[in-house]
Amino acid sequence: MKLARVTKKGNRSFYIEFLAMTLLPLIVCGVVMIMVCSRSVQLSMTSEAQDNLQNVAISVLAAYDHQYPGDYEARVEGSTAKLYKGGVDISGDFTLVDDIEAKSHLEISLFLYDTRLVTTLKDRDGNRLTMTVASEKLVNEVFKQQMSAFYDNVSIEGVEYYAYYMPVMVKGGTECIGMIGVAKPASDLKDSINRSVMNNLIIMVLAIAVTSVFILRFANTLVTVVKHMLDFMKKLADNKLDTKLDASVSQREDELGEMGRNLNSLQIALRRLIERDVLTGLFNRRSAEKRIDDIEDSGVRYCVAIGDIDHFKKFNDTFGHECGDVVLREVAHLLNEGMNKHEGFVARWGGEEFLLVFVNEDINQTYDALMIIRQALHDKDVEYDGQIHKVTMTFGAAEKTDGVPINHLIRAADDKLYEGKQGGRDRVLI
Ligand code: GH3
Ligand code: MG
Ligand code: MG
Repeated sequence: MKLARVTKKGNRSFYIEFLAMTLLPLIVCGVVMIMVCSRSVQLSMTSEAQDNLQNVAISVLAAYDHQYPGDYEARVEGSTAKLYKGGVDISGDFTLVDDIEAKSHLEISLFLYDTRLVTTLKDRDGNRLTMTVASEKLVNEVFKQQMSAFYDNVSIEGVEYYAYYMPVMVKGGTECIGMIGVAKPASDLKDSINRSVMNNLIIMVLAIAVTSVFILRFANTLVTVVKHMLDFMKKLADNKLDTKLDASVSQREDELGEMGRNLNSLQIALRRLIERDVLTGLFNRRSAEKRIDDIEDSGVRYCVAIGDIDHFKKFNDTFGHECGDVVLREVAHLLNEGMNKHEGFVARWGGEEFLLVFVNEDINQTYDALMIIRQALHDKDVEYDGQIHKVTMTFGAAEKTDGVPINHLIRAADDKLYEGKQGGRDRVLI
């Protein structure tokens, strides 16, 4: 019987689909997380820098108040404007800002109106950037509108800075005389942001890589198991019922292993259904023929015997078909037991006919074996519906000889069986 072959419906691959459903979301999530994380690191570090710059700006003003108590005052001396505090000219005094710069590594500038009078900023030649003018935007926002402001893109002498500016107020806070600015080179902060982002990036990429390796390994295992099961089922569908499912599948302790074990059970059930006779459980004629072919191919010596139940019809006719079935089952059981001691097999050949094959035995050994079986059956009581029935069988046997085809050999055994029937039944003829 050739089982219907079911082939793959499309060209979709379970492996590719599995990876698409696991690796792809993992990578997409990873990339999004890296972007969100980088952005939040950047924001938090920038905000930290802003707080730091603001605190230093407040500290600088406090230090000026402490060192030069009194108000700020602008004075014009000759053609130059000077800034006084508490009556002292602080225009050329860089000690205080240099001290704070040494401790904080931040650039400090004190503006009179829009002009840097005191600063730690220097050009490439080391000259202080005094008398340089703040941008129009800065002057407008901080000096004119008297608002503190943080900028993350201030360019001074071609260098990018993060800077915080505060207005410097006089007359009890009613008038603005200048500005205080504290700046940090943007490259410093960008370096720390990049370092921090890079660390996060490395950790995340590593986490994604490790997870991907596990997913790939798992996917490979799954695909291998599925492939083993598929190969197994294809072979079953091709009628190769002797095929074995790879042991690695049925040994698994998970659901896949359970599937594998169920497939094995299914194979056993299928074999039973195809190879065995339903009533007696013996091999059926079809599988018996295949077995004889295999024995023939192996080249060993063997004998065949046909056994037929004597006057079997009477069980059916007198006690009913069910009684006949009981007798058939009992006979099958006894023949099977009898064959246990011999190499070979027994099959149900037809209605109440059985085929027995004795491997590696000559015709005399076969005769002896059949005589024992015959006697065992002769002595047996078969019980049906509270009644004891006696059953006998007649056997005909023949030995395989070179060049004689199997069907001739079976016919020879059949002829002997006929002779046995003619001779009075319950006997073995060779
Ligand atoms: P002989 O001694 O010459 O062999 O006589 P017999 O009655 O055994 O031979 P015959 O061939 O006349 O009868 C065989 C009967 O077996 C006929 C058939 O109805 C019956 N039979 C075949 N298969 C089954 C089965 O599966 N169950 C039952 N109950 N009867 C069956
Ligand atoms: Mg018969
Ligand atoms: Mg018969």
